[in-house]
Formats: sequence, structure tokens, C-alpha cells
Amino acid sequence: MARLVIVSNRVGVPDRNARAGGLEVAIRPTLRRRGGLWFGWSGRIAENDPGPVKIAEHDNTTYATIDLRKDDYQEFYNGFANRVLWPILHYRLDLAEFTRRDLGGYFRVNEFFAKNLEKLLRPDDMIWVHDYHLIPLAKALRERGHKNKIGFFLHIPCPPPEILTALPNHEQLIPALGQYDLVGFQTEVDATNFARYLATERGLNRVDDEGFAFGDRIVRIGVFPVGVEAESFARLARRAIESEFVGDVLGSLSGRAMIIGVDRLDYSKGLPERMNAFERFLVNFPDWRGKVTYLQITPRSRTGIQEYADIGRQVGEAVGRINGTYGEASWTPVRYINKAHSRTALAGLYRAARAALVTPLRDGMNLVAKEFVAAQNPDDPGVLILSRFAGAARECSAALLVNPYDSEGVAIAINRALSMPLEERRQRQADIFKVLVANDLTHWAERFMATLEPPHGAAGGRAQVRAAAGR
Ligand code: UDP
Repeated sequence: MARLVIVSNRVGVPDRNARAGGLEVAIRPTLRRRGGLWFGWSGRIAENDPGPVKIAEHDNTTYATIDLRKDDYQEFYNGFANRVLWPILHYRLDLAEFTRRDLGGYFRVNEFFAKNLEKLLRPDDMIWVHDYHLIPLAKALRERGHKNKIGFFLHIPCPPPEILTALPNHEQLIPALGQYDLVGFQTEVDATNFARYLATERGLNRVDDEGFAFGDRIVRIGVFPVGVEAESFARLARRAIESEFVGDVLGSLSGRAMIIGVDRLDYSKGLPERMNAFERFLVNFPDWRGKVTYLQITPRSRTGIQEYADIGRQVGEAVGRINGTYGEASWTPVRYINKAHSRTALAGLYRAARAALVTPLRDGMNLVAKEFVAAQNPDDPGVLILSRFAGAARECSAALLVNPYDSEGVAIAINRALSMPLEERRQRQADIFKVLVANDLTHWAERFMATLEPPHGAAGGRAQVRAAAGR
């Protein structure tokens, strides 16, 4: 079996402080099971010379990290990745701040990754590159002569070509994906958008329904919705609800119903719109006042970027307005917390909640939605209220699907969730849980890797891509 080499911007070295983020949650169990190498940025900024790659071994995994120089960090991470690619791929052209200098920094850091990674590579390694920070990495490796199987998975959305083409220099960047053997997306919509871009903008021909010809290379496109460890998360939640922490939270609610939201502080998560919807709910359904508490856990992220400071201010103001207008001395409608919580704490809180509000304006998948459903007590489950614009909506079609821009509609969904008969709640939770178990995190990773490099004797990649795409 080929050694697995994972490359992502950040590396989840086990004994560092746990960070909240879907990518790390998705990758760690795969490496724990299979072993291999995880390469990427250490999260540290070097004053001058970044120095050599640092190696740490834990269990059967090698963690290899490099520091970034300050200008690299600014241009690559804060600049092109998070102020251009992140907003544009989330359909937010209005927030993109493009400069050629940042684009240059982005390509430079990808080169730097390739240069440092190649010293660690063996010829038969299977390389799996993750996410929008590293689109040109395969190209940089190919130019250095590496012929390994290299796959790419985009954790975030891929918008239609009408939006992608607003990305300055897209003709330089997007075709760099042609140096991978397999490019994976979260949903059929994302994969179709990419395929349309290749056909209409680059004039590339489909070889058949498995992929596109880039010169003499065939790049396959597949759909691999990222999953959660559904059954083990359910077990974790069963234990966690008995914890002192969850007991204290429930005690402090004095018997009130709890609605939960868990999101990084990010404009893609639709938090101001969600606060408006909750306010509308209090206005339109006043009988619920004093009987329900909305707990929103929102760790700050990307604090060096202006748009993130802006969204933090907007959400804080909305919470203050709602609590000031509708709160009582004995009841705070919204509890808003910027501290990150452990997965155990979240699992217990999910299980204790009557409903979850997961209403991003656009999200590649959204693992919180899936974790919430996995954490429920099947005999008396809470209800998931989910944005139709989250990748998770396709598999979680038994959730209450909402349009996050429609505050009246979300308010009605909150009332419906809190009033839903037990039988209907059970049915919806069971329907989603079945899907989550069938496509849990292990299946997701195994399917991607088997499609990238079919095991000897197995059917070729073609059939597997189709299966992965659910076609
Ligand atoms: N998470 C966490 N602690 C927190 C907040 C979030 O461990 O305080 C985890 C959460 O359980 C989920 C992940 O971070 O597994 C967030 O993934 P998601 O796909 O929902 O959003 P992303 O942050 O990747 O956009």
C-alpha cells in the first residue's frame, strides 16, 4: 500500500492547542487509521529565515511543518487565500480584495511548499492535497519532476464560471488544477460548476463522463461529500451530556428550551442574518419569549483581516440589540460566546439542544450540521434547521431546509422546530443519521483514495468516480 502524504495549509500536530475547523477534523482520523505523513505550515511566523522543516512523530504519523516569513503570511494567507479565494469561492465578489503582489506571494508559497516537501517524498507516495490554499501545488511538484499520484480536494464551494471568471488571473490559477490526477468536490453542484468552467472558459473536452484531457493528462473529477464519524460522535454525545459542564449549562437555563449555533466567526456563516431571524421569531411568536434561550458559540478566526473584525462588530451589535430589547432581568434571549469549545463539550451541548440553527449563506459542507444530528438522542431528538446553501443540505434533506436570507422563513422554521411532534422529530433524525452512517468520514477518505489510486485488481478509476458522484 502506498504511503499517504497529506498536504494542507495547517497541520494538526496532536499536542498543539486544538483549533476549531472542519478540515482538521476530517483529516486526523484518516491518518490515525492509516498512518503517513502530514505536511504544511506550522502556524508560526519566522522573523527572518523560516529554517528547516520540523519533524514530529506521533503514533504512526509523521508531522512535518514549516514556518512562513511575515511577508509570505501576509500575501499568501491573509492576502490571496483569505481575501480573494475565500470570498470569491463563497460567491462574495463584493468582499474580494485583489492585488498582484498577493497573487505573487500565493504562487511563491506554493513553490516553497513544493521545495520543502520534495525532500520528504518517495516515488510511490500517494499525495492528497487539501483546499484552496494549495491549488498550484501539483504544478510546482510536476515541474520538479514528481510523477506521483496527486489528488486535490476542495473543502469549500466552487462557484459557477460566471463568478470564477471575476477572479483576476483565473486563467493562470484554475487550469493549474489540471496537474492533479483527481480533483474532488463536496457536491455535484461544485463539480458541475468546475466542469462548466473547463468546457466554456478553457475550451477543454470531456474525455467521457470521468474527466477532462489537459494535454496528455486526464484529470478526473469526483464528488466526495465529507462525512463525520457518526457513530463514535453519537457515543461521545451520550457520555458528554452527563458531564458537569453540560449539567451546569442546563441548570443555568432553568428548564428553558435551548437552540444552539456553532460557527467560526466568518461572514460566510450568515450570523447577522441569523440574529435578524431570531429577532423576527421573538416578534412573530411572542409566546416563546422567556421560554427559549439561543446559545451561539463563535470562536474568532482570521483576526488579522478587516472583514472579520467588521462581521464581529455586526454580530455583537445585533446580540446587544436583541438582548436589550427583549431580555428580562431573569432571561437573556441570546448567549453569545467567542470561546472555542472542545468537541466533547459541543457533543453534549448539541444533544441537550432542542434545535440547531445552521444557516450559512454559503458553505462547502458544514460539519456542525452533521455532528448535531449524530449527537441527538434518537428517542427524543432535537431538530436541525439548515441552510439550503450548505453542502450538507443534500444529504440532510430531512432537516428543515431554509433560505438564510429570508428571516421570516427562518423564524417560522424555528417555531416549527420547537413545536414539532415527537414522531416527526424521530423520523427526520433517523433519516439523516442513516445517511451519515452510510457516508461517514472513513468512507469519504477511503473512496477518495481508492479513486485516486485504485487497489490492484479493483475496477478502474472510471467506475469509482461514477460511484462517488452517485451517478
Ligand atoms: N469546532 C470545535 N470547537 C468550536 C467550534 C467548532 O471543535 O468551538 C469544530 C466543529 O465541531 C466542526 C468544525 O470545528 O467539526 C467546524 O467545521 P465546519 O465544517 O462546520 O466549518 P468550518 O469552520 O470548517 O468552516
